[in-house]
Amino acid sequence: MSWEKSVRRVVPYVPGEQPKQKGIIKLNTNENPYPPAPGVERRLKEIDCGTLRLYPDPDAGVLAKELAVYYGLKPSQIFVGVGSDDVISIAFLTFFNSDKPVLFPDVTYSFYDVWADLYRIPYKLCPLDADFRINPEDYRQENGGIIFPNPNAPTGVLESVDTVEEILKANPKVVVIVDEAYIDFGGESCLPLLSRYENLLVVQTFSKSRSMAGMRIGFAIGSEKLIRYLNDVKFSFNSYTMNLPAQLLGAEAVRDKDYFLKTCSKIMETREWVKGELQKLDFHFPDSKANFLFAAHKTISGKEIFTALRERGIYVRHWDKPRIENYLRITIGTREEMDKLLEALSEIVAK
Ligand code: PMP
Repeated sequence: MSWEKSVRRVVPYVPGEQPKQKGIIKLNTNENPYPPAPGVERRLKEIDCGTLRLYPDPDAGVLAKELAVYYGLKPSQIFVGVGSDDVISIAFLTFFNSDKPVLFPDVTYSFYDVWADLYRIPYKLCPLDADFRINPEDYRQENGGIIFPNPNAPTGVLESVDTVEEILKANPKVVVIVDEAYIDFGGESCLPLLSRYENLLVVQTFSKSRSMAGMRIGFAIGSEKLIRYLNDVKFSFNSYTMNLPAQLLGAEAVRDKDYFLKTCSKIMETREWVKGELQKLDFHFPDSKANFLFAAHKTISGKEIFTALRERGIYVRHWDKPRIENYLRITIGTREEMDKLLEALSEIVAK
């Protein structure tokens, strides 16, 4: 059809499955196994439905202010959006506006190339080394911007703040986005670098460490200048991205620091225990500082284990992609869920 010639064609990102049936052990999308902070439920019950008649605050001020207090920054250094996917997508559109390629690792969050294709942004992959580490030298070539997750996804590998700074030092002329979706599980954030690098944008999310994937809240922290540019694009797109409950409940979650730290430590503790148990079953994995492990078995293929787990009602994530086809990304759930996973894996590898 002739009209189809001008359709913007894209190959969409495929999110992890959200199974409809009950009783599935869901370790495939890095959700938090614990509920949000108790204050979130209290606040939810108090929401006056009459207020939903009005448009929400387009600046999501209540949430930006609470995040600013938490991180010791100004609200004007914070940009919030509908999950970090929304925030990163707007950041691609705002900052990656050059003929030179945007750089990101070859094994990384598989949404980056989708946004680049959607917005017609050229990009170039920088291969991780054999241990899935970033080589900062790769980021010395000409480019139109840089993005990488730290810890990386789906590998879980954390790079040091020094490595991030090395990349920043070499790239004063472009925006460098560090996607810290998983930073709260034992990583060191590069937020302290903000005072020295006006071109650094740090993105985080409520979906993992704050147990609120269903609420869709993400945020970016950067210099006031970067945040202004992000807002200009956002307000040219959709002023009211954050609904009122998301703003109120997100702010409530940030207020409960103790609960946040406690649930993150529980997940880290479970992760460290699972590492030992998986090794006993002949799995190997890069050391993870995220709420998931990226594990491969010595002899059995990733696909085979993925299918066998699925038949037992345990969902993990598997990609049929070069370099990683033998790996499974396993979210850290509760101790009980991980017990069931390990029981199933020991049966599968014993066959
Ligand atoms: N960045 C990375 C590296 C992720 O793994 C995810 C989760 N899929 C996101 C960003 C987006 O998370 P959300 O939109 O739920 O904040």
